[in-house]
Amino acid sequence: MSNIMEINNRKTFAIISHPDAGKTTLTEKLLLFSGAIKIAGAVKSNKIKKAAASDFLEIEKQRGISVATSVLSFNYNDHKINLLDTPGHKDFAEDTYRTLTAVDSVILVIDCVKGVEEQTEKLMQVCRMRNTPVMIFINKLDREGKDPVELLDELESKLSIKVRPLTYPLGMGYQFRGVYNIYKNSFDFYSVNKTKIEDDVVVFEGLQDKGLDDKFGTDAQKLRHDVELIDGIYENFSIEEYLNGNLAPVFFGSAINNFGVKELLDTFIEIAPSPTNREITNGTVKPVDKNFSGFVFKIHSNLDPKHRDRIAFLRVCSGKFERNKFYLHVRLNRQLKFANPASFMAQSKSLLEEAFPGDVIGLYDSGIFNIGDTLTEGEGFMFKGIPRFSPEVFRIVRNTDPFKSKQMEKGIQHLTDEGLAQLFVQNYGNKKVVGVVGELQFDVLKYRLLNEYGASIDFVTMPAYKAFWLKYENKNDIQDLLNIRSHSLYNDKNGNLVFIADTDFSLKMAMDKNPNVKFLSSIEHNDQTILMGDVA
Ligand code: GDP
Repeated sequence: MSNIMEINNRKTFAIISHPDAGKTTLTEKLLLFSGAIKIAGAVKSNKIKKAAASDFLEIEKQRGISVATSVLSFNYNDHKINLLDTPGHKDFAEDTYRTLTAVDSVILVIDCVKGVEEQTEKLMQVCRMRNTPVMIFINKLDREGKDPVELLDELESKLSIKVRPLTYPLGMGYQFRGVYNIYKNSFDFYSVNKTKIEDDVVVFEGLQDKGLDDKFGTDAQKLRHDVELIDGIYENFSIEEYLNGNLAPVFFGSAINNFGVKELLDTFIEIAPSPTNREITNGTVKPVDKNFSGFVFKIHSNLDPKHRDRIAFLRVCSGKFERNKFYLHVRLNRQLKFANPASFMAQSKSLLEEAFPGDVIGLYDSGIFNIGDTLTEGEGFMFKGIPRFSPEVFRIVRNTDPFKSKQMEKGIQHLTDEGLAQLFVQNYGNKKVVGVVGELQFDVLKYRLLNEYGASIDFVTMPAYKAFWLKYENKNDIQDLLNIRSHSLYNDKNGNLVFIADTDFSLKMAMDKNPNVKFLSSIEHNDQTILMGDVA
């Protein structure tokens, strides 16, 4: 098959949702429909429901499984689908944001009882930043939920995206009868847990078809009224608007009952984007470009504690990746070849000979990759748009076993490479501070340092409000910070200068006194402009 055909064949996406909306269930049903798995219950959820370390430890024991489910590749109707898994727990949201940089579209799952929830809003903000095309699946229609029109309004107002329902439900909960496909004028009848994965669909000649009255009796009027209302309110569906990330098609269903899933999947195959262009430091890379290129968006350390190996997950962006061929690791300016790259089909990992744009490959890594690293066939560019957000909680790291300092240093180095936490070292001292998005990450860091590196640490709380990367033209711009506020200045892993404000007031003061400095709450992994070198 030619490269172009391989590219057009592929769809790389993620399913996102607030925990419990039904992401794992939908993932499983997609795999069932595609034939990639045979029985329900095969997809292990790698999410953590409660914010407790003990839950994570249990998950850790299953790390092999969670890695295998990091990427699920399967075939459906002659397409190769790469589904990238994202952690459900909000404390690991950064991992999700990074994964979203590697997909071409997303499916957002909403619980019809709960509507748009906090985590949904945050995830959608990230999608909106990148104009990622979004499809919405409103789940759990077998339960008494919010009114569909109300849900659609809520989606538009809270997620700042236009929506267009492509199906519309008749009834809900006990009264749920099924969904009407607005464009195909067909009705898909609902039954509890459809055991055969096939449609029970009746096609009508439009809304005025008398058949509707035969099938639904008095409900037919309601259905006509609802669908006409929807057609009146919402503009016609435009694939182009969807692909630009401005308009989200909406489907209704019940994942656990296999209902509405096939419709979603079929439309997804039809309209979701194939691998798209990617921005680089000096232009754009197109999937059809002849030369191979790709970037690392996720790193998983110590899969097997006995071997200390890590896997770097690389998204192929252009050309063709081949096993045992030399590629340039741009940041290190080093030629590397990979003897054992892994691919992920359904739930198993296997050796890969070649990969095409849209594919995700696992590269065994002895510690040479950072998130955002680029591989090319020799060109010196880096991929852009891989964000690093300012952490929200900070703690000082205290080594509680002086004989294990080296192990601690190494462990912290590796685990922060992985993106589990961010490390800041005080500019004038040697105080080490780790910053995370959610408290649970501290527990995980401590646990993994002990179990994987034999290092024992404690955390000391510190007054910290927010952290900002500092952008400035020359050293004079930061004189006040260096002279008066040096205790709040830190260096991140790349040597960028960071201001950790202890209060809102101290932040305002610092900003007032340093008008030529930009205080940034997020930067890109490969942002070179911010590197200011040694200021101490
Ligand atoms: P995730 O946290 O988003 O991955 O959610 P899960 O897929 O684990 O689902 C959370 C809960 O909702 C589980 O108990 C599911 O069985 C249940 N669930 C998923 N889909 C449906 C549905 O269509 N209807 C109902 N009633 N429950 C569902």
